[in-house]
Amino acid sequence: MTDHQTPFDQLVAGVVKPGLCTHCGTCAGLSGGALAMVETDYGPLPAPAGDQPVTLPDDILSCCPGHRIDYPGLNKAVFGHLPDSWLSGNIHRIYLGYSALPDIRREGASGGVITQVLVDLLEQGQIDGAVVVRQGSPRAWEAEPVIATTAEEIRACSQSVYRPVPVNALLDQMAAFEGRLAYVGLPDQVASLRKLQQIGHSGALKVDFVLGPYTGTNNYFGAIESFLRSNGVKSVEQITRLRYRDGEWPGHLSITLQDGRTLKAEKFHYNYLIPFYVTRATLFSVDFTNELTDISVGDAWSPRYEGLGEGFSVVIARTEKGEQVLRSEQERGLLVLEPLEAADAFSMHGHMLDFKKRGSFIRIGWRRALGRPVPDYGYHPRHLPLTRKLVEVVISGLFAIGRTRLARFAVRLIPIKILGPLFNTLRKTWKNLSKPVKRKGLGQYEIVLTGIDQNHHLEKNTQ
Ligand SMILES: Cc1cc2nc3c(=O)[nH]c(=O)nc-3n(C[C@H](O)[C@H](O)[C@H](O)COP(=O)(O)OP(=O)(O)OC[C@H]3O[C@@H](n4cnc5c(N)ncnc54)[C@H](O)[C@@H]3O)c2cc1C
Ligand code: SF4
Repeated sequence: MTDHQTPFDQLVAGVVKPGLCTHCGTCAGLSGGALAMVETDYGPLPAPAGDQPVTLPDDILSCCPGHRIDYPGLNKAVFGHLPDSWLSGNIHRIYLGYSALPDIRREGASGGVITQVLVDLLEQGQIDGAVVVRQGSPRAWEAEPVIATTAEEIRACSQSVYRPVPVNALLDQMAAFEGRLAYVGLPDQVASLRKLQQIGHSGALKVDFVLGPYTGTNNYFGAIESFLRSNGVKSVEQITRLRYRDGEWPGHLSITLQDGRTLKAEKFHYNYLIPFYVTRATLFSVDFTNELTDISVGDAWSPRYEGLGEGFSVVIARTEKGEQVLRSEQERGLLVLEPLEAADAFSMHGHMLDFKKRGSFIRIGWRRALGRPVPDYGYHPRHLPLTRKLVEVVISGLFAIGRTRLARFAVRLIPIKILGPLFNTLRKTWKNLSKPVKRKGLGQYEIVLTGIDQNHHLEKNTQ
């Protein structure tokens, strides 16, 4: 990067053009309206909104998660210390839980815990608004971030939206908001928000409670277009309603069309589109459990709970404040929570932890070896076994083939009722085959800190 480059030039050259943008929206949210997040085949990307010159803070790159997330520094800033486990981040307590209100539980992505917490914080007057994502707005197939100020608005924003939504584009609105906020974001968005809190951004400082879903894979919107095409529907404009986790947990993709038809796909069948449309940010993210929140929530994937349906979440209280909120709602009968051992919680997600904590670092290492820009997370695993690298050749090879035009074209021709179950069987077989390699040594995950401290001095350290 040359000296005469503006901060926006640096962002474009160092992050957007190399394909490292995570679509968080921070740069747009800090641009005073000069940048908009424009939907592309590769997710929403920042672009000038008009003729107005784009002025961004000089240190924009330090807030851009596509460039850098200083996990060591942010852990110290948020929790006061580094985490005991770099697999899961800082943990205060872990629960298995769900909302005690059947409607909120059923409408939620897993147990409705995030929505329940937000609604109660609002009703108790602890917040005046919540930064959330509204599916179906402005158009039925789109999704946008909003500041919800009523319980009904928060509830209308429950469920997971499996596409990148630039939540931090709301930073200007957050700064102008009168009152205190809760905030829900994906791991990259939360990390950027935490950095902005650290450097004193007025909108970020209004956030008193940070919640976030576990985040395994996210897809470009092309996945929905492909699903429609394979059902003979040519245009997304025919969609009148779209829900990614409709009905009883684990829920199904449900798309209602203008002609009255509703197309449905079970969650695990719809997953067949992941190899074809997975976002690049997914492949380089190293944070599965949303490590910088007050409360993180994921699906309680375990045969015991999946068999029961209804909706079960795994809930991590990461801060004392997060723990107090959960306990208070439990005591008032709003949340059902049972303590969960860390080993049990993380055995539910062993594959995804491996995918992020070893797979992403292998993928990043290969990309760096090709001389291409990579994100900096301030640490890396001490050891990546050769067997795990060989497994990664298969996984990354599948993604490389899947994102070709030919593969994407072919997948549109095969109906989901064939591909869905086939993919699910292959996925389970591959999971079983690769399980010994993926789990081996994961429990003894050790890292090397390469972190940049809060004053941006390079520190070499080990742990
Ligand atoms: C892209 C994505 C990938 C995920 N991958 C996994 C996984 O691999 N394993 C796993 O266990 N769990 C995963 N989850 C989390 C899971 O789907 C549930 O969100 C989580 O269990 C919380 O459930 P809940 O019922 O408490 O949330 P709800 O009460 O339904 O609330 C969900 C909240 O998340 C917000 N939200 C939804 N989508 C987005 C989005 N795209 N960007 C920002 N905020 C959003 C909503 O605004 C809402 O406030 C993922 C979620 C997402 C969005
Ligand atoms: S990752 Fe976020 S801050 Fe960085 S370029 Fe993308 S939208 Fe902007």
